[in-house]
Amino acid sequence: MRRLDSPPKTGESITTALLGSSITLLHQLESQAELTFTLPTPAGESAPIYLLRHEQTPFWYIPFHGIDFMTSSNNVEVAFTRTWSALHQLGVRDVLSGAATGCIHPDMKPGDLVIIDDFIDFATSRPRSILTELWEQLPYTFAAFVPPLCPELTQILDNCVQAYRFGDVFSTATFGQFEGHRYESPAEIQMAQRAGADVVAHHNASEAIYARELGIHYAAILYVTNYAAGLSTDWVAAADYEETSRQGKQQCADFLLDAVVRSAQRSPECVVCPGPDSQPLYVSGPAAASTLKPIYR
Ligand SMILES: [Zn+2]
Repeated sequence: MRRLDSPPKTGESITTALLGSSITLLHQLESQAELTFTLPTPAGESAPIYLLRHEQTPFWYIPFHGIDFMTSSNNVEVAFTRTWSALHQLGVRDVLSGAATGCIHPDMKPGDLVIIDDFIDFATSRPRSILTELWEQLPYTFAAFVPPLCPELTQILDNCVQAYRFGDVFSTATFGQFEGHRYESPAEIQMAQRAGADVVAHHNASEAIYARELGIHYAAILYVTNYAAGLSTDWVAAADYEETSRQGKQQCADFLLDAVVRSAQRSPECVVCPGPDSQPLYVSGPAAASTLKPIYR
């Protein structure tokens, strides 16, 4: 693990990053990383960043935002800020993400795949904006979320997932984000259900928000591992599901790698994510850098 002062010069264009979770299962690839490093960010040292390659296409891989769920030393909110600051420094154009999720929608069940196309952020302590976490002066108007996720990358995920052999595939869904580090209560799930959430998990709304604010194309696909709290008491069936779940997650890893390659190889025509007033134009210059807030250690 190298602790770099600035992004590495690899000699090639690396446009795409994959955010790791329990459904990407790239641990076997981490040992084949061509480069593993961390970057300094205003929020502290970044998570380990891996340079991986699939079908000759290089991409960055950051598992779990570097969050260590077994200790309290790596706060989840700070970890998000570090990850997206590092992605911005690397000049990443596209970010794909996957996550395990609990389903709320009555037609969904464990083993299904869900491409999200909207979100509700129920989290209360995570920064609502990556920009206000990192810069004091923000010469821009509010980021827009219509549509909330990148339509181009979402279409790529939709195309890649067609070969998936477990469960059903949902091409649209509203994602409900909770804080994490615990599961939700039944009453919280009822609230999310009434609000219109189809699935719940802990990462992808913040990722979609930070991506849009930084002018990065972003899309996410979720693998349903459980019914949300209070919606099923059939835990025996859930236990029997373990082997199928492992196979399903491996397929998720395979098609996400395909999606990374297709994303990297495309010529972007999407004007939604970078927008006419792309935020990085404002926040990447030396003048903007001088306004970085040293708000974390
Ligand atoms: Zn886009």
